[in-house]
Amino acid sequence: MYKNLINGEWLEGARVSRNVNPSDTRDLIGEFAQADAEQAREAVAAARAAFPAWSQSTPQQRFDILDAAGTEILSRRAELGDLLAREEGKTLPEAIGEVGRAGNIFKFFAGEALRVGGESIPSVRPGVGVEVTREALGVIGLITPWNFPIAIPAWKLAPALAFGNTVVMKPADLVPASAWHLADILQRAGLPKGVFNLVMGRGSEVGAVLLDDTRVDAISFTGSVSTGKKVAAACMNRADGRMAKFQLEMGGKNPFVVLDDADLEIAVSSALNSGFFSTGQRCTASSRLIVTEGIHDRFVAALAMKMNALKVDDARKAGTDIGPVVDNSQLAQDLEYIAIGKAEGARLVAGGEPIELSSAGAPGFYLKPALFSEASAEMRISREEIFGPVVSVIRVKDYDEALAMANDTPFGLASGIATTSLKHATHFKRHAQAGMVMVNLPTAGVDYHVPFGGRKGSSYGPREQGKYAAEFYTTVKTAYTQA
Ligand code: NAD
Repeated sequence: MYKNLINGEWLEGARVSRNVNPSDTRDLIGEFAQADAEQAREAVAAARAAFPAWSQSTPQQRFDILDAAGTEILSRRAELGDLLAREEGKTLPEAIGEVGRAGNIFKFFAGEALRVGGESIPSVRPGVGVEVTREALGVIGLITPWNFPIAIPAWKLAPALAFGNTVVMKPADLVPASAWHLADILQRAGLPKGVFNLVMGRGSEVGAVLLDDTRVDAISFTGSVSTGKKVAAACMNRADGRMAKFQLEMGGKNPFVVLDDADLEIAVSSALNSGFFSTGQRCTASSRLIVTEGIHDRFVAALAMKMNALKVDDARKAGTDIGPVVDNSQLAQDLEYIAIGKAEGARLVAGGEPIELSSAGAPGFYLKPALFSEASAEMRISREEIFGPVVSVIRVKDYDEALAMANDTPFGLASGIATTSLKHATHFKRHAQAGMVMVNLPTAGVDYHVPFGGRKGSSYGPREQGKYAAEFYTTVKTAYTQA
């Protein structure tokens, strides 16, 4: 039984939830305490009480704890990666990579705790000095999705703590184990009680407390657009009239453009990786491939051939390329979109069939990655986030049409292009309406020390990660002094 961490104590919840392995649904990873609204409020009270001391802690104290946590995460990469693959279903190498990313994020923000600086600016008035400094924001509520069970909690938690905030985190219901281990590691790294509280439980109950409780100063949310809109509305309409600062990272329908002059191998491997790896369950996945006429047929044939060679199997088995879908309802959603694509008139050129058993005979949520060609920009499969291994190819005339098509989406997270033309690469970097642009690289797979985030319907608020994270997790003070 894995418990919630509230005010430095491990506490049972009102209920328990069972965490099941999507590669083998007979495998129970553990039972996890589910907090109710009352416990969530206790966690907020603990974070509030811990804030004055933690916000005044020295950068050295914060560095030491975050650095120790990073060291432990990195040293337990293989074990925590195995757990992550078991609860979420990405392959073992992907899961170990994600754990490594989380460890590196803690190391990076340990350093950022030491680098909080300010500015001294001459006043326009004689004899007056102006200082601009950053201060901790207060109590931060973190609400995270299931698809990156350790990296997303890490990239919210580490900056929140580095800049002197206290935290209540609610991880996604489907993947509590990775978040639980983060709490355990931080606790043992010496974090004072109440600075970080973990409350596992339902979004509508525990998440709602974080949004409504006026003792929470800010919310960092990653998840779907529909939940993100609820988060925004709640943060703007609190009982005491004071709004909470909020940051939303939401869905994507990321385009990957392939031009006639592309290196075919780079184009195919980038599309394969960002369309299907991690079972297509990445917000940065490219699910729209926009391909110019001259290379279209060769590209589709080569991609379909590579897809047919992918091994869909138990996430932890050596040699597996694609693990299972995360759960039954996500699998049902993927299959529904495959049916919609067929009904809309797109051509299913590869995959799309569910597979009931792993190669070892274990029941799981397996799906053969699906590729549609002859899709149009208006089709639902080309416009809506499916969040599974389902990709559509749209044929276009030339670069100008490809760029217009790439930008014709309500989302704006990542955008990619495969080309050997410096002119088109440069133009695309400048004109792609997305927070992140990739040239000759998959749209998914980003560095941990630089800003991450999108535009339009994908994101709201300041960027996450890298030094830009300070924009959200601190508040700026301008002080004037008459000498
Ligand atoms: P989700 O919106 O269903 O849930 C996200 C979190 O919100 C969960 O912890 C959930 O319990 C909580 N929640 C649900 N209802 C709530 C409510 N009423 N009040 C407060 N909290 C509530 O999303 P998901 O299915 O876990 O994740 C998939 C989505 O996340 C996809 O749309 C994907 O694109 C997006 N995502 C975005 C990024 C990014 O950085 N842009 C990264 C990863 C995932």
